[in-house]
Amino acid sequence: MHRYGVVGNPVEHSKSPLIHGLFARQTHRHLSYDTLLLPTDNFEPGLKRLFADGLTGCNVTVPFKEQACATCHSLTERACIAMAVNTIVRQADGTLLGDNTDGKGLVTDLSKNNGIVLRASRILVAGAGGAARGIGKPLLDEEPASLVIANRNADKARALTDSFKAFGPIESQKYADLAGQRFDLIINATSASLANVVPPIPQSCVDDNTVVYDLMYARNRTVFLQWGLQLGSKRAIDGLGMLVEQAAEAFYLWEHIRPVTRDVIAQLRLG
Ligand code: NDP
Repeated sequence: MHRYGVVGNPVEHSKSPLIHGLFARQTHRHLSYDTLLLPTDNFEPGLKRLFADGLTGCNVTVPFKEQACATCHSLTERACIAMAVNTIVRQADGTLLGDNTDGKGLVTDLSKNNGIVLRASRILVAGAGGAARGIGKPLLDEEPASLVIANRNADKARALTDSFKAFGPIESQKYADLAGQRFDLIINATSASLANVVPPIPQSCVDDNTVVYDLMYARNRTVFLQWGLQLGSKRAIDGLGMLVEQAAEAFYLWEHIRPVTRDVIAQLRLG
């Protein structure tokens, strides 16, 4: 039986065991998927022990996504560009391959699940942390007219855009300098919603054609999505679909079968 899990700290809250359990049932795969808590100061030895004990593959969550890059023996191009790993595959020769499926998950949720056209659109991403790094290149691959990154720490936004410049029209701007501009899609890739805070995006950035998307998901609409709707946005989408889509991509890497995600997303929404 293949054994999988999600490595993190904390990790008990993770929905990944539920999602992968639903994928396994749907695809008739007999596998296990657990939450795997590792000490924050002992990631690499802990991860290697899990694989030595028979783990087939794992997801990686906060705070280990960057460390996992250094621990894996090889990285896919998208993990290398993101400098973050969220999925590890144990290969036939026992070495660990690190991948990043977050960006693919977001783009699939936006375009396939929600019918949003990214090509030639003006996109604003708030945040320049690990999640923003994971979604930058996959968004540019969709050929938007422009991708603007704004972050509280402007140096981090500049560093991010510098490292993605070769892939398309990306630039960093300070939040205050966005006043007077409008965007087709605003993605909240900050963790501000966790603290019920909205990043300081000027109100002029939103009109009734703007889609607002929060990477965070919660039972109740996040403050960021409420903010967008109050400013006239007609589409406010949370990150649950992305979570399921990035998991589906990981499942495909491990089990070579692509689960149907629609029912799984619907089931998770029901709680
Ligand atoms: P990081 O800790 O790496 O980065 C946090 C980011 O949020 C930084 O850019 C930080 O800015 C910004 N930030 C934090 N608080 C505020 C605030 N009050 N106002 C403005 N900006 C703020 O986190 P991640 O990038 O890993 O994760 C970001 C979010 O994305 C989390 O909520 C996470 O749950 C979610 N996520 C969802 C996924 C999904 O599948 N749906 C997948 C991955 C992530 P600064 O640099 O200035 O400190």
